[in-house]
Amino acid sequence: IRRNPGQPEFHQAVCEVAETLIPYINAHPVYERACILERLTEPDRIVIFRVCWEDDAGNVRVNRGYRVQFNNAIGPYKGGLRFDKSVSLSILKFLGFEQIFKNSLTTLPMGGAKGGSDFNPKGKSDREVMRFCQAFMSELYRHIGKDVDVPAGDIGVGTREISYLFGQYKRLRNEFTGVLTGKGLAFGGSPVRTEATGYGCVYFAREMLARQHEGLEGKRCVVSGAGNVAQYAAQKLMQEGAKVLTLSDRSGYIFEPEGLTEEELAFIIDLKTNRRGDLSEVAKEFGTDYFPGEKPWGVPCDMAFPCATQNEIEEEDARRLLANGCRAVVEGANMPTTREALRHFRAARILFAPGKAANAGGVAISGLEMTQNSMRLTWPREEVDRQLQQIMKRIHEQCVAHGQEDSWVDYVKGANIAGFIKVAGAMLAYGIL
Ligand code: NDP
Repeated sequence: IRRNPGQPEFHQAVCEVAETLIPYINAHPVYERACILERLTEPDRIVIFRVCWEDDAGNVRVNRGYRVQFNNAIGPYKGGLRFDKSVSLSILKFLGFEQIFKNSLTTLPMGGAKGGSDFNPKGKSDREVMRFCQAFMSELYRHIGKDVDVPAGDIGVGTREISYLFGQYKRLRNEFTGVLTGKGLAFGGSPVRTEATGYGCVYFAREMLARQHEGLEGKRCVVSGAGNVAQYAAQKLMQEGAKVLTLSDRSGYIFEPEGLTEEELAFIIDLKTNRRGDLSEVAKEFGTDYFPGEKPWGVPCDMAFPCATQNEIEEEDARRLLANGCRAVVEGANMPTTREALRHFRAARILFAPGKAANAGGVAISGLEMTQNSMRLTWPREEVDRQLQQIMKRIHEQCVAHGQEDSWVDYVKGANIAGFIKVAGAMLAYGIL
């Protein structure tokens, strides 16, 4: 805290990991002697830069750009870019720190990083977004590369933004390489990347339930968010026979007691991806119940999939979810559960899948996009989906192997220890760096 003042989200992420890792490290003094945990909490480097661009009215606008290159012990830096007005160093450091463990869990060779800007894409025209992305890449390109650091999307950065960023990188470097993932299929993108995080969450949930001889069929699921992760978590849940009762956005949430229909979901995907409107439009179109300004956690359910943003499930929300019978929480977003809420879920010994395990499917397919780019090949969709399912299964197995406590699996502990072992092993091998 003394070294990183004013970074509450970063402290939160480190504390959550330290709580479960310290007992493990104490039992394995080799890590303590080499100060591995302390070294892991200090990024390799942080780049902060000015991004200057012109809006449609001809005004000069100034934003701040960041890239936090946290750790490349097991592969090139890898992690998304977030464009949101809330972006700060604390948020990007928490995301970059989490990314180290997540990428390790995928079993693919990727280090941890995160970046972005306090640029708010809401209400900006397409041209403004393009000019911003080009200005952002005009500095970022010096710090990244296909074997150095490979950014991807996150909140506010989807296919449109990745395309503008990639185009600018290609122009500046005069080379066509897999320097970004989440690209369009026509220029090096991987099949299933768009769906991978949401689908991966549901595959992970399926594995957790299967250990208890249960399936997703008929499960009542409350999903938050209406962006990339939420859309495809909802789609896969519906394909598996579960009922998606809610989706949410910054404006409020929609509630469909019998579960969203395919027609409603298709409308929402188009609304959020192309028209960038809010969920009140779903209510207008289909008569769906809509609760402005509220979060969906009061809706009785079997499972919750928080897929919007950090700290969206607070202590009171956790109490309500548990009181209403929720038996599993699967984090699609990064750190959507506050520490107090997490304490309630773990005390109740429900199935709780932390984001670094449950939402690793996105970066895993990004890793496979890098592989395909290096080979200059595109694999068929079925092949990539098969690999995604296998990867999620392996992540689940690692969590169980390190998180089993009598009859309950502590997935938080399991994910932290399993992710740590590989990175720490590489750091030990390199000596003191
Ligand atoms: P998107 O920008 O596509 O969607 C985010 C959704 O969450 C939007 O519906 C947005 O509402 C809502 N949201 C964002 N901030 C808030 C807030 N403060 N309050 C209420 N709602 C909010 O992002 P993604 O779906 O890509 O990312 C969602 C989460 O998943 C993030 O935590 C991200 O880090 C994590 N993640 C994403 C991965 C990916 O592959 N995309 C991979 C792994 C994790 P609105 O529509 O009104 O803007």
